Amino acid sequence: NRRIVLNERPKGEPNDNTLRLEDASIPQPGDGEVLLRTVYLSLDPYMRGRMSAAKSYANPVEIGDTMVGGTVSRVVTSKNKRFNEGDWVLSQGGWQDYSITNGEGVINLGSDTPNPSWALGILGMPGFTAWAGLEFIGEPREGETVVVAAATGPVGATVGQIAKLKGCRVVGIAGGEEKCRYATEELGFDACIDRREGDLKEALKEACPDGIDVYFENVGGAVFDAVLPLMNPHGRIPVCGLVAQYNATSLPEGPDRSPLILGTILTQKLRVQGFIIFDTFGHKFPEFQKVMQAWLKDGKIKYREDMVEGLEKAPQALNGMLKGENFGKLVVRVGPD
Ligand code: NDP
Repeated sequence: NRRIVLNERPKGEPNDNTLRLEDASIPQPGDGEVLLRTVYLSLDPYMRGRMSAAKSYANPVEIGDTMVGGTVSRVVTSKNKRFNEGDWVLSQGGWQDYSITNGEGVINLGSDTPNPSWALGILGMPGFTAWAGLEFIGEPREGETVVVAAATGPVGATVGQIAKLKGCRVVGIAGGEEKCRYATEELGFDACIDRREGDLKEALKEACPDGIDVYFENVGGAVFDAVLPLMNPHGRIPVCGLVAQYNATSLPEGPDRSPLILGTILTQKLRVQGFIIFDTFGHKFPEFQKVMQAWLKDGKIKYREDMVEGLEKAPQALNGMLKGENFGKLVVRVGPD
């Protein structure tokens, strides 16, 4: 039973000493418990936060503890009536081959669910984040302009496609030409700007001739700076994530821009609202599942995975994601089906 534990808290970007691969014995389930074998491990930006002791909405991983993470696993042994051997389950198994659960919070996906790994992406936490943040905070209306960065990741790609279904003009921001081409040609965005090329502010202005009504905030940093002056009166900003600064060790240099930011919020009468998906919208999850399953069935939403082979590759893959090296939902294949 291999597992990856937190070895030391990173300062800035995680390095080779941050995480450690260990061998452990396979745990034995007690009464009411289930032994799970991990097949897919989800890698998500929030994991960088869990490595840090800084105050957050969730407790940090302790030094020496297995890294947390959503997993899709097979039931190996079950001493719990809700699960049978061979069932696929969605759980918080963490970065390891085997885990034990008492079944609390674990979703049984059945024994022959199609695309089981999708429960970590489009049909799970990231897809739900996109839908709920856009629907209930962004509140896009037909003809409005919606902007989203990290546009080909599981959250951004879904936000943009839903906004298109609602009749909006959708402008994405992504890292690189290939991602931008995918956003416009495959996902149907009206425009996509390469954040690595040219003048982001100018390009965004050109792509949003009528200003911006909804900015779905995934990244912060330079993208936020480019977006803010273009926000229309009564615009909405669901604040979902700030991945551009997850490895930052201090505030950026330069003049204090809080008066500019607050001034724009005030004079443009913007609504800026943060949310933590299951805390804020947990009760909406069944509704989301119904809506998204129908969209997928009708081919209205596309979904792309970036599958990495082998648990030992997870640390490097997570680091890469924080710099934009992933193309689609980052998932690690830990073991065979
Ligand atoms: P992605 O798969 O989209 O990966 C992150 C992406 O961020 C990278 O691929 C890269 O895309 C982009 N990025 C990285 N650094 C920068 C930078 N400096 N400037 C601009 N873009 C950058 O991740 P997810 O779709 O899983 O998550 C997207 C956001 O949603 C994250 O901020 C995450 O924390 C947040 N989130 C929040 C939740 C909540 O409950 N509030 C729940 C789930 C996710 P590219 O190279 O294309 O720019």
